[in-house]
Amino acid sequence: MAHGIGALRGLRVTMGVFLTKPITVEYPFRKVKFSPVYRGGFCFYPNNCNACKSCQNACPNSVITVTGVRGEDKKMRLVKYEMDLQYCLYCGLCREACNKDALIMTDHIDLATYDRGVLKMELYEKQPDGPVRPAAAKTAGSAAGAAGQREVSQ
Ligand code: SF4
Ligand code: SF4
Repeated sequence: MAHGIGALRGLRVTMGVFLTKPITVEYPFRKVKFSPVYRGGFCFYPNNCNACKSCQNACPNSVITVTGVRGEDKKMRLVKYEMDLQYCLYCGLCREACNKDALIMTDHIDLATYDRGVLKMELYEKQPDGPVRPAAAKTAGSAAGAAGQREVSQ
């Protein structure tokens, strides 16, 4: 008799689980909608950046290197923006430090890679004979894009 009651309870639990909607999703075939403040891969907008280095100074792991020059009008101009994402904690302190919205964090989560080299990224470099040589517009899904998006606005 006790066995029968136990079996019935077990069946009830099994049926309950069977009828409950699963909370997992079949990633990567289905994507989850993240919070707007989720801290995933980066997007960099060089046109917004004034090379103030606030992001570089805020970073606890020396991930960011900003190179700038002061123009004749005394304003700083961005020359190069680099990130070595293998040391990034995704803490978001750099993002918070930037009041120009030049560096934002996205919901891009495909960050894994087998090659550390691709995590050292040059997000922007000014060319001597031209205004900019932005990194590829969007590299999500490629090896380099695994580390972060390099989206630029021109
Ligand atoms: S998220 Fe944190 S660790 Fe990564 S670059 Fe920004 S400040 Fe540095
Ligand atoms: S990304 Fe923002 S904080 Fe960093 S140097 Fe550019 S303007 Fe300054």
